[in-house]
Amino acid sequence: AKQEGRNHCCVYNEAMEHNAMDSLWLHNELRYAIERNQFCLVFQPIMDARGEVVSAETLLRWYHPERGFISPAEFIPVAENSGVILDIGNWVLEEVCRFVVRMRSSGQDVPAIAVNVSARQFNQSGFAPQLFDLLERTQVASSAMELEVTEYALLNNVDAISERMAALKEHGLHIAIDDFGTGYSSLSYLQSLPLSRLKVDASFVQKIGEDSASDAIVKAVVDMGHSLGLEVVAEGVETKEQLRYLQQLGCDYFQGYLFSKPLAEGDFITYIQRQRQL
Ligand code: C2E
Ligand code: CA
Ligand code: CA
Ligand code: CA
Repeated sequence: AKQEGRNHCCVYNEAMEHNAMDSLWLHNELRYAIERNQFCLVFQPIMDARGEVVSAETLLRWYHPERGFISPAEFIPVAENSGVILDIGNWVLEEVCRFVVRMRSSGQDVPAIAVNVSARQFNQSGFAPQLFDLLERTQVASSAMELEVTEYALLNNVDAISERMAALKEHGLHIAIDDFGTGYSSLSYLQSLPLSRLKVDASFVQKIGEDSASDAIVKAVVDMGHSLGLEVVAEGVETKEQLRYLQQLGCDYFQGYLFSKPLAEGDFITYIQRQRQL
């Protein structure tokens, strides 16, 4: 019995340690992921109501040689906690610029690329000036890039946030509120910020057609965006039924598996080229 008790204790501890180990492991490995070339970017097209690609969101992928593919949903929170997100975020911005330059020199037109900017990254006082430097250095137009920030990134000093956003907008960068509807910001607060777009979170989109209450909520979110004077993007659109309803609501842009999964660079270029031939 004593033996059994000890085993129980061990199993319990192992399970607990496993969790802690996991984020410790992620934390350690993340520090080397950039220099070991383990990150890459994929691109998911964003369409207008006519079905044309107007922009694309870039999403980070981490391929670890032993663990294989690790989802950003798993490692971004760890990176955010440890601060490594700042290096990763800079890598993403630089990589997007390199991508745009590469495309330009091969004569390929690319739509604007939307980049996810984490709360910690966005709240760095040097964020805007460093980004302007990068664009200047790489000779990439501000209109080639858009920024996506969550409401969570805006829970800071209001004046500092609106100043930063105003500087970005003045420089020609559009900002979208990501995952709209899942955060806590008040409408009057959002109204005071120089935003361009609002992305309706996929969790709302995917409830379309479930019942009349869910449909009413999606309508309310889209209407809210429009009354704030913003363009509305629906993310996570998977079915024709969802698309039809969103179009009926006057939603401006659409993104999701119905059109395309996030694509590796080469496939993304092929997707754009094929689209232009239609
Ligand atoms: P997000 O910004 O909300 O990105 C959308 C997520 O939904 C992506 O997952 C995308 O692949 C997925 N998605 C797109 N269309 C569909 C669909 O039709 N159905 C479903 N079920 N899912 C769809 P992903 O790539 O795993 O990224 C997860 C989250 O990780 C992102 O959520 C974003 O918060 C974060 N993330 C990704 N890349 C970066 C990055 O470069 N920087 C930062 N800070 N965060 C990133
Ligand atoms: Ca996003
Ligand atoms: Ca989103
Ligand atoms: Ca989302």
